[in-house]
Amino acid sequence: MIKVCKFGGTSMSDGMNFRRVAEIVNGDPDRRFVVVSAPGKRFGNDNKVTDLLYDAHTALEEGGNFHSAFTKVRDRFIGIAREIGLTFDIGAVLDECEREIEAERDRDFTASRGEYLSARVMAELLKAPFIDARDTVRFFEDGRLDAEKTFALVKDALKGKKRAVVSGFYGAYPNGKIKTFSRGGSDVSGAIVARAAGADLYENWTDVSGFLACDPRIVDNPARIPALSYQELRELSYMGANVLHSESIFPVREANIPIRIKNTFRPEDEGTDILPVEKYRFTGKTVTGIAGRRHFTVIYLEKSLMNAEIGFTHRVLSVLLKYNVSFEHMPSGIDTMSFIIDSSLLGGGILDRLCADIKEAVHPDHLRVFDDIALLAVVGHGMSRNVGTSARLFSAIAASGVNVRMIDQGSSELNIIVGVDSEDYERTVRAVYREFFGE
Ligand code: ASP
Repeated sequence: MIKVCKFGGTSMSDGMNFRRVAEIVNGDPDRRFVVVSAPGKRFGNDNKVTDLLYDAHTALEEGGNFHSAFTKVRDRFIGIAREIGLTFDIGAVLDECEREIEAERDRDFTASRGEYLSARVMAELLKAPFIDARDTVRFFEDGRLDAEKTFALVKDALKGKKRAVVSGFYGAYPNGKIKTFSRGGSDVSGAIVARAAGADLYENWTDVSGFLACDPRIVDNPARIPALSYQELRELSYMGANVLHSESIFPVREANIPIRIKNTFRPEDEGTDILPVEKYRFTGKTVTGIAGRRHFTVIYLEKSLMNAEIGFTHRVLSVLLKYNVSFEHMPSGIDTMSFIIDSSLLGGGILDRLCADIKEAVHPDHLRVFDDIALLAVVGHGMSRNVGTSARLFSAIAASGVNVRMIDQGSSELNIIVGVDSEDYERTVRAVYREFFGE
C-alpha cells in the first residue's frame, strides 16, 4: 500500500511540529511520499512564512529593506533547525535563497522558497531524498498545469525511492521559471504526487479533524462529515468550505484515489474520507454539508419575448467575455435572466461599463443590479433520494423570516443554491443546519 501525505502550514509551524510530522510519517511504513507546505502560524497573530516572503518581495520591489524582511524568514527556519537539532547547514541554504531572490526579483519565485526550505529540512529530518517541484511540476506557458508531463516527471523522480519529500505549492514553466499555484496550493501538489505515485490513499494532514457540516463560526460545534464524494467536496470547497484547495481533487479523481483529511494535532481522530461516488457509502443523511460565500452581485435582465429572441444569451455572454468576467449561476425565466457574479470581479468601474454594454447589446426592458448577495450551497447526494427536500429547506428558511432572492438547483440534484441578502446569511445557515442536522 502506498500513502502520500501532505502536511499543511500549521503542521509545519515550528520545530516541535516538524517532529510531530516525522513521528506520524515514521509511524506507518506505507507513508512513503511526503509533501509539505511552508511553516504557517504558530499562534493567532503570527505570520505565515509565505506572507513574510510576499512582504520581502514587496520590500525588494518598492525599495524597502529587503534584508530585514528576509531576516524574519531566516529566523523561523533557523529556529526550526535548532529545535530539531539538525546538523545540516540551514544558514548556507538560506544565504543561497536570499541571493537568488534578489537576483530573480520574481514574486512567485520568492514565495516558493518557503516550501523549498520546509521540504529540505523535512527531508533531512526523515533522512529521505528531497525532490524539488521545480524539476517535476510543469506548467504550460499560459499557466495551466501540464498534467501529463507532470505526472510522468514526478513518477520518474519517485521511481526506486522508498521514501521522498517533495516541496508543495510550486512548479515551473517549460523554461524553468517558477510558478506557484494559488494560495493553499500545496493541497494540489499533494494530489499530483498521489496520482503520480499510484497511491492507494492521499492523506491530507491539517489542523482540523475533517470537514464539518457547516461553518463553526456560525453554528457551535457542528457535526463532522465522516465521508463525502469528490463531487460533494468540489461543491462545498468551491463555496467556501476551505479545508482543502478546491482544485485538489482533479489529479486524484481520475485515478479513483481516496483523500483522507487528518488532524496532525489529534491523529487518533477519524477525519473525513473523500471517495469516488461508487465507493461512497450512503450515510442516510439527506444533506451532507452546507457552505456559502458572501459578496455576489446579481445582474437581472427582463425583456418581453426574450424567449423568442435568438442569440440573446449569446450577446450578453459576449459582453461578459469582453470584460473577462465569469459568472457563477444563470437562473432564467421565460422573459428574465440573471447573472450571479463574484463582486470582486466587478470593481474599478467594470460593473457600470458592463451594464452599459449589455444594454447596448440586447436592449432589455429592465436591467437591475442587486449588490451584496450571499450564496448558500446545500449539498448532498441524499437530496435526490429524499422527496420533499426543497420543501423542507425553503420552509426552514421562511420560518426564520429570510427572503430568498435566488434559487438554483443543478440537474444532478447534488446541490441547491440559495441566494439571500448578505445580512441574512448567518441566520439562513443556522436555520438550514437546524432543519437537516438538528436533533
Ligand atoms: N504556503 C502556501 C500558502 O500559504 C501554500 C500552502 O500552504 O498550501 O498559501
